[in-house]
Amino acid sequence: MSKIVYADHAATTPLSAKAQAAMEPFFAQRFGNPSSLYAFGQQAKTDLEEARAVIARCIGAQPSEVLFTSGGTEGDNWALKGVAELRKNKGKHIITTAIEHHAVLYTAQYLEKLGYEVTYLPVDSLGRVEPERVRAAIRPDTILISVMAANNEIGTIEPIAAIGAVAREAGVVFHVDAVQAVGHIPVDVKEWGCDLMTFSAHKFYGPIGVGGLYMRRGLRLPPLIHGGGQEKGLRSGTENVAGAVGMAAALQEAVDELDSESKRLSALRDQLLDGLSKLPCAQVTGDRENRLPGTASLIFEGVEGEALLLHLDARGIRASSGSACSSASLDPSHVLLAIGLPHEVAHGSLRLSLGRESTQEDVDYILREVPAVVNALREMSPVWDVKTQKPVWYH
Ligand code: PLP
Repeated sequence: MSKIVYADHAATTPLSAKAQAAMEPFFAQRFGNPSSLYAFGQQAKTDLEEARAVIARCIGAQPSEVLFTSGGTEGDNWALKGVAELRKNKGKHIITTAIEHHAVLYTAQYLEKLGYEVTYLPVDSLGRVEPERVRAAIRPDTILISVMAANNEIGTIEPIAAIGAVAREAGVVFHVDAVQAVGHIPVDVKEWGCDLMTFSAHKFYGPIGVGGLYMRRGLRLPPLIHGGGQEKGLRSGTENVAGAVGMAAALQEAVDELDSESKRLSALRDQLLDGLSKLPCAQVTGDRENRLPGTASLIFEGVEGEALLLHLDARGIRASSGSACSSASLDPSHVLLAIGLPHEVAHGSLRLSLGRESTQEDVDYILREVPAVVNALREMSPVWDVKTQKPVWYH
């Protein structure tokens, strides 16, 4: 095996050289604790605040509205549980969607156990959340609307500004999980009209284990972690200065090159979607127009996603599948079911997510290897009819 193609940038991205260089001094030289009063510690505080200012600028926020976290999961948990606690006397109804990441979905389910009521809005066949459906779901006791900016499995970009307008009109707190969006599409918290927004550095070439929660000025969630009073007393614990500095450098770089990179990646992505959807019983999942630049996702009927991944791995292609039976359950992903795919069809999903190091050669290689693997798997599949080139459920 010679060629390696990393096509799983929606899972995580490699650390950018700029981010790595920015972080380097903070491990052994500038290791001060931002809470220390001597100049060495105060320098770390200054560096941390500079990172906060850079990040704030990149998302259209004020520095005081950016709180550092350990990543997307923590930000989502904080947003949902925090609003639930803050507004519990106003009401106990939360609106979210059927296609959220588990960081939101499982937190919502946890809140249901505590007595909150959650509406999981359906999506259309492209994975789009209709703003009018959000409006129709709002009740006098609704305290939170949480909708993702872009879906991690099928790449659909949601009409966030329109949903934000609906939330604002109703006076309901609006949280956006923008983990897949920040650094990839233009993000402006004011334009989106959100009160809370989650992001995570390792999705935009920053380090794993650091992220942030935008918290609109005037909204003060209860503290997530109690202790020494860092992050305005809301998330105690000695700050991850290196991580914050790395995240800021990575985000600045991603935003600087967003226009050119999203054009380049969209063109490569479309080659994948066009080329691979030509296979028999193949279809693109998600919205072709409102779509993350690097994310190609498809279904190949009669193929098991997990087998597909393993065979692609053997050919050097690192990809992902919403159908992976990684948990104890054999169910395909909730996202694929939510866009209306039957179980047996949803099992054949493949997500190829391109990024900064992806090249035309990578795409050419994928376009050669994926059809070969799909054909080989279908030939040995008990559900594939070689004569008709269709799965047996079409008989
Ligand atoms: N939300 C979305 C949409 C994601 O794609 C992910 C990660 O895949 C997360 C949240 C969780 O982020 P993290 O890995 O930083 O905890």
